[in-house]
Amino acid sequence: TRKIQPSAQELIDGILTGDITLLSRAITLIESTNSIHLSKANEVINGCLPHANKSIRIGITGVPGVGKSTFIEAFGKYLTSLGKKVAVLAVDPSSTISHGSILGDKTRMEELVKDENAFIRPSASGETLGGVARKTRETITLCEACGFDVILIETVGVGQSETAVHSMVDFFLLLKIAGAGDELQGIKRGIMEMADAIVINKADGDNIRKAQLAKVEFNRALHLFPAKKSGWIPTTATCSAITQEGIDAVWQTILDYLELVNSNHYFLDKRKEQNQYWMMETIDEQLKSHFYNQPAIIQLLDSTKKAVQNDEISPFVAAQVLLDNYFKK
Ligand code: GDP
Repeated sequence: TRKIQPSAQELIDGILTGDITLLSRAITLIESTNSIHLSKANEVINGCLPHANKSIRIGITGVPGVGKSTFIEAFGKYLTSLGKKVAVLAVDPSSTISHGSILGDKTRMEELVKDENAFIRPSASGETLGGVARKTRETITLCEACGFDVILIETVGVGQSETAVHSMVDFFLLLKIAGAGDELQGIKRGIMEMADAIVINKADGDNIRKAQLAKVEFNRALHLFPAKKSGWIPTTATCSAITQEGIDAVWQTILDYLELVNSNHYFLDKRKEQNQYWMMETIDEQLKSHFYNQPAIIQLLDSTKKAVQNDEISPFVAAQVLLDNYFKK
């Protein structure tokens, strides 16, 4: 009889030999919200873990339209031309709301999709951003075990997803375009502070001069932030994802960064810190979800919220009532 579902060991063996089909199936298993898949998924992750970690993880963010997918296509093709194996993952906050997404649409990277040394996987969907992000974090482990040595993680520069992505990458790249005077406004301070490099895209044709001016502006703005723990001074650059001008320089910047953080040990320290972060995040997430999924809590929550709204009970007492109900017995 033909086995429909590969076993955990078959998935691990497949991944370790670079089998993309089994890698995809293992990721689907990780993304499953069905709790019966959880232990098998964990077995696969554990089996891959000793073979993971040997990659460079790069986060790429920027508002919609800035050119993320065009950039990733150009950058990814450049990397595979250097003999690298490149995985492209995404953390899409919109996937928590609808199942449609702003990111991760494979068809947007037509050339890279055809490249046998590239693997593109759209964002998982899920109930919470934390859940979606955690699945991407676990997918990194599988991709690394499968032999991918550069992992690009795309996210949109509009919300909290940057923090989650920042917590799973070694290098964080912010893509911008030269705008009409909004060089400093439109950017969320927090996102700029996370960036290891700001790259102004679409520096081509009539836009080159504007892009260069924007670069100077951003460079000035970056210097207002406190020094980074990594010892790295964030850089600014211009590029064109369409003409590919400046794409190689972005890679050189990342290599310079790696040289610094490997020599001062920040690279491994940061990864250890990130692992702890994900452990704590996962505990937080599961505790919360366990709480909110208790039938008694589900039953009480709405009426208690109303009572708080109507000033019949203080928010703290209300919370205590629900927590007591949860912790009792
Ligand atoms: P995303 O939403 O950030 O993923 O942006 P896309 O990659 O989909 O690009 C948005 C639009 O900008 C598309 O029409 C691209 O063709 C265009 N674009 C992207 N990169 C460049 C570039 O370097 N130069 C120019 N002129 N246009 C670009």
